[in-house]
Amino acid sequence: MPIRKDDTPPNRRLGLVNLLLIGFGVLLLVSSFLPNQGMQQVPRVPYSLFVSQVDDGNVRRAYITQEQIRYELKEAPAEGAPSVLATTPIFDMDLPKRLEEHGVEFAAAPPQKPSFITTALSWIVPPLIFILVLQFFARRSMGGAQGALSFTKSKAKVYVPDEESRVTFADVAGVDEAKQELTEIVDFLKSSERYTAIGARIPKGVLLVGPPGTGKTLLSKAVAGEAGVPFFIISGSEFVELFVGAGAARVRDLFEEAKKKAPCIIFIDELDAIGKSRAGSMGVVGGNDEREQTLNQLLTEMDGFAAKDKPVIVLAATNQPETLDAALLRPGRFDRQVLVDRPDLSGRKTILDIYARKVKLAPGVDLDKIAQATSGFAGADLANLVNEGALLAARAMRTSVEQGDLNEAIERVVAGLEKKSRVLQPDEKKVVAYHEVGHAIVGHLMPGGSKVAKISIVPRGMAALGYTLQLPTEERFLNSKEDLEGQIATLLGGRSAEEIVFGEVTTGAANDLQRATDIAEQMVGTYGMSDVLGPLAYDKQGGSRFLGGANNPRRVVSDATAQAIDKEVRTLVDRAHDRALSILRHNRDLMESISQQILEKEVIEGDDLKSLLSSSVMPEDAQAIA
Ligand code: ADP
Ligand code: MG
Ligand code: ZN
Repeated sequence: MPIRKDDTPPNRRLGLVNLLLIGFGVLLLVSSFLPNQGMQQVPRVPYSLFVSQVDDGNVRRAYITQEQIRYELKEAPAEGAPSVLATTPIFDMDLPKRLEEHGVEFAAAPPQKPSFITTALSWIVPPLIFILVLQFFARRSMGGAQGALSFTKSKAKVYVPDEESRVTFADVAGVDEAKQELTEIVDFLKSSERYTAIGARIPKGVLLVGPPGTGKTLLSKAVAGEAGVPFFIISGSEFVELFVGAGAARVRDLFEEAKKKAPCIIFIDELDAIGKSRAGSMGVVGGNDEREQTLNQLLTEMDGFAAKDKPVIVLAATNQPETLDAALLRPGRFDRQVLVDRPDLSGRKTILDIYARKVKLAPGVDLDKIAQATSGFAGADLANLVNEGALLAARAMRTSVEQGDLNEAIERVVAGLEKKSRVLQPDEKKVVAYHEVGHAIVGHLMPGGSKVAKISIVPRGMAALGYTLQLPTEERFLNSKEDLEGQIATLLGGRSAEEIVFGEVTTGAANDLQRATDIAEQMVGTYGMSDVLGPLAYDKQGGSRFLGGANNPRRVVSDATAQAIDKEVRTLVDRAHDRALSILRHNRDLMESISQQILEKEVIEGDDLKSLLSSSVMPEDAQAIA
């Protein structure tokens, strides 16, 4: 979609003013350097020569000004030499007397009058500069939208949906519920009379909530595209400026512009940049005034406009809904919240279909398989995946994208691009091999809906030195306590293998431990899976699980409970660790043989891996503790 600003950008205006000022300055400078007319091309001589020429009686007349004495000789010293000369006057009280003595005709110039231009400039320019500077600051603090020098213009870009680049709901897939809710919004915009006639209040604000890359921005563009109305797009961070008041002024300006173009949509991306909870930010020194003012202005504007027959609907997107100020979520503001979550299996398939249509796909490519292997991918990841696949195919001089390209693209997106440059030392490689095999064996024996599909000790991306890829065998929405315990044990499998084989641990398990502890904490705090602590949620707002990782603040609990929670988390992790150790000790020979193989081949996958892992056995004491 073409983006255009609907006004002359402020920086161009500033440029104009600067140009004007510079122009004046140059004029002043030039005029002061301009030599006075008629004084040119007269050779200068030393004062002493002038005096001696006067004494010789060779000077006919002299014209004395403050800057110079110009005089004419009776006869030139040589043929062709100039007879008019000039010298610089020095303080000489005797000069008039001396001139008179030698019969020189002399006159003095009246005190020099500055030229008209210089006078005019010196009177006009300084006040002008002063006025301009004054205006500049006045405009800025006034925050009016009427000024030419406006710092406070909203930076919103207007999308005018034109035919070929229009985004519609057909371009968005896998988020059907969100689409359905937004279809309603489109209807409000298209036929608002029908709703207002019956007395219904058209919602003012709709908040799109979901993890990054799930298509929130895309969806809001689609709403504009479907409704065929102007679409103001601005990011929350663009409101936040160094100067207190600028953000608030921008909000005012944005809504003013929008009201002129109503019916229309204002889309505020990354709303959390201005909408952070005011209570939560207490104690941070400085910087909050501005955000708070901006937020207040936004609230005022949203309360202010009466969407009679020309609605202005404010869409906003955030991936941190829990940080938003509660005032934003009140009725009459962002009272509608639409969850835009990561797509499920069929959703991923439809998204892949959309992007696969944009590349040349080899016949027989099975997108279902790709969809199955990309659980947890957001729409943006899938778009990226197809593109990576196309890049790989092109690099290999193929004319169409094959299944293998897409498979490799999955791994790239999962683990980052292959780092050819990073070379592991042989002893490091050995540690990584045992570590990954540890994950694989424990992971294979654990219950739950995923199977170990690949072990690799080829370093990838920034952090991963090796990895064990577990793919889900079925689509899962619920995890049992047993599944989660299995996940923790699998995560600890790597470290346990290192302990058993090398008798010491390395830093390589840091990420595993982080994730294992997170799961254990969530089991106790969010899912109420602890027998000791019971079905209570000790975390506040358990709904943000899809946002990945970030743990919620703990509810206010007594010291004893806090200790009990810590202890329970510890117990869960310890127990999983013991299980992993037990499994690996029991399968020590198998671990050795797989590790040797992987050190040779670097990667084991598919049926090879399956048959190797199938000979693993579950020891008695590592059975799930039901
Ligand atoms: P968000 O705003 O939620 O972070 P975006 O809307 O910016 O995500 O998505 C980035 C890109 O990813 C989009 O431009 C689009 O190409 C692709 N994408 C994301 N989600 C979807 C989806 N549900 N359907 C189709 N494409 C998607
Ligand atoms: Mg976005
Ligand atoms: Zn690991």
